[in-house]
Amino acid sequence: MVKCSCGKRAIIYVKVKGKYMCEDCFLRYFERTALNTIRRHKLIDKRDKIAVGVSGGKDSLALLYFLNEHFDNEIFGIFINEGIKGYREITSKDLRKYCKRFGVECYEFSFKEEIGMTLDEMVKRGRLKPCSYCGVFRRYLLNKKARGLGATKLAMAHNLDDEAQTILMNLFTNDVKRFMRLGYMTGIKTHPKFVPRIKPFRLLYEKEVLVYGLLKGIRVTYIQCPYAEQAYRVRIAHVLWKLERKYPLLKYNVVKVFDPKLRELKERAKDEELRECKICGEVTNRDICKACEFKRELKIPIS
Ligand SMILES: [Zn+2]
Ligand SMILES: [Zn+2]
Repeated sequence: MVKCSCGKRAIIYVKVKGKYMCEDCFLRYFERTALNTIRRHKLIDKRDKIAVGVSGGKDSLALLYFLNEHFDNEIFGIFINEGIKGYREITSKDLRKYCKRFGVECYEFSFKEEIGMTLDEMVKRGRLKPCSYCGVFRRYLLNKKARGLGATKLAMAHNLDDEAQTILMNLFTNDVKRFMRLGYMTGIKTHPKFVPRIKPFRLLYEKEVLVYGLLKGIRVTYIQCPYAEQAYRVRIAHVLWKLERKYPLLKYNVVKVFDPKLRELKERAKDEELRECKICGEVTNRDICKACEFKRELKIPIS
């Protein structure tokens, strides 16, 4: 039996600490890490009303649970139903069950109603990869709806694995603009229409988030998005997973080594102006936002 330093039976190996931990010590480590992240980067203010972007997956439910447990702020979930047949029906069922159990309100919005087309329909009609449409419209709706519901922060369950993947994806494609989406809090400039996004789990491994959720009684049906195979992210995730088996802490180091660079990039981008899309009025750094551009391409009538 592998033991924790306190003498109890260990349940997990925590890489960052280089230690096996028991249930109690792990929970303390997990919660302290997330709370320190929030405090150090000033992610949550007493007056904040927090919307949590939830998908029905383990990560976002764990975040919803965690924030609800530790903060007195008003907290609610926002669920975006992209319209993926045979996938969303299952995850949304889990989501509703847990929101009810946590006593948290959850608002649901669909691509079909809000954009005019399901993701499945977009994929049939458009020429881009599913994740391109999904990412743009999801970000668009999350911001718009969070703001509409009065949220001042939008919490996302991005973990260390997600963040390391995003850093490499942007690095490999030399996409500097997208670097702005990285970091503990995204966006450097405030625009009244932009709800800042926060990532309390940014320094926690995906596995740690999963174990935390399990210890808190969160058990969801695991089902992979049918479009995931086509995703660049999934390929990068696989490479990182393989590398990390050989080089422990690789993902942690990717995130940590990149942080000073990120601050520099954000500083430099400060002069870039955020404005309102000429068609829909949503916040963007271009004349016409990406969502409206995609709607045009997909021949969705723009209202
Ligand atoms: Zn212990
Ligand atoms: Zn627009």
